[in-house]
Amino acid sequence: MESLAYKCPNCCADLKFDAAQQKFTCEYCSSSFTEAEMKAIAANQEAYSDSRPEEEVQVDTDFSEHTSVYSCDSCGASIMADDNTAATFCYYCHNPVILKGRVSGDFRPSYVLPFQIDRKAAIGHFTSWCKKHWFLPKDFLSAAQQEKITGLYVPFWVTDVDVNGEMDALGKNIRSWTSGSYRYTETREYAVARKAKIVLRGLPADGASHIDDELMEAVEPFDYKQVRPFAMQYLSGFFAEKYDMNMAAMFPRIQKRAVQASDTLLRGSMKNYTTVSVTRSDIKVMSTKWEYMLLPVWFMTYKYDGKIYEFALNGQSAKFVGTPPLSKARVALCSALIGLAAAAITILIGGLI
Ligand SMILES: [Zn+2]
Ligand SMILES: [Zn+2]
Repeated sequence: MESLAYKCPNCCADLKFDAAQQKFTCEYCSSSFTEAEMKAIAANQEAYSDSRPEEEVQVDTDFSEHTSVYSCDSCGASIMADDNTAATFCYYCHNPVILKGRVSGDFRPSYVLPFQIDRKAAIGHFTSWCKKHWFLPKDFLSAAQQEKITGLYVPFWVTDVDVNGEMDALGKNIRSWTSGSYRYTETREYAVARKAKIVLRGLPADGASHIDDELMEAVEPFDYKQVRPFAMQYLSGFFAEKYDMNMAAMFPRIQKRAVQASDTLLRGSMKNYTTVSVTRSDIKVMSTKWEYMLLPVWFMTYKYDGKIYEFALNGQSAKFVGTPPLSKARVALCSALIGLAAAAITILIGGLI
């Protein structure tokens, strides 16, 4: 059957025909499509050309010839740097890293969002944040700790997603008024149906398994207007983490975000009812376009009491995220002070009586 040559529109793997379901299914990302859906998607997609412009091939060669990859035996991070920027320690767990050699052209990103915040400014942001959190351990932003702050290009998959969404609901508009000595309530019920083709652009998810997903989602948004086609010079002086999750592995996260965003959009279109109860929701990701992009993040990790605390500063907008470790000594001191204050108040009250 010629249609067996279909590629998964969400992760590019080969689709298989499942006779029992009469559907084309992807065993990598678990998407499934009817024949009619596949035809509609195929008609929608532009013809894909295999030939690549010469400049692109040159960027691939430059990348694989001038990018070294270092690996951390302790946490598994794979750190990329250009020939002029050597990595000595792991930005994540602070253990020494080992030079593993060159990296293949497959890991060459298509785009990069250059850093807008330099090292000095990044340290400034960390310092002013620390001043607001006096419970931090004393050496939290010591000189040694400041040295570990790393400008890291995080490997992100940035996607444009086509979604078909259908939602049925029961909408009620309730109105009440008083006339004479009577109070009237009028309830009007509506069968509400929504059917939408939704295009979500620029949905990101980081492709490094050991960087905390929630931390990376918290550091968003990035403004893609400043995105540039990848060139080696952007890497200079910074590090980049090598992705270890491919499109099929990333798809569930992208799907979850796309479904949530579409659900919010569909519900948002029913705001003209007093109450809405959704009776059916069918939201399906029909196709996903992927771009592999490096996004700028100033990264700091801090080991305290056997735990790694991660902090991130958006390298474009300076948005700062992270949960501070609480210094046990300082918390104890604070409790003691509160205890003293309470005792003083008791004494004072005692004195008044
Ligand atoms: Zn797939
Ligand atoms: Zn490490």
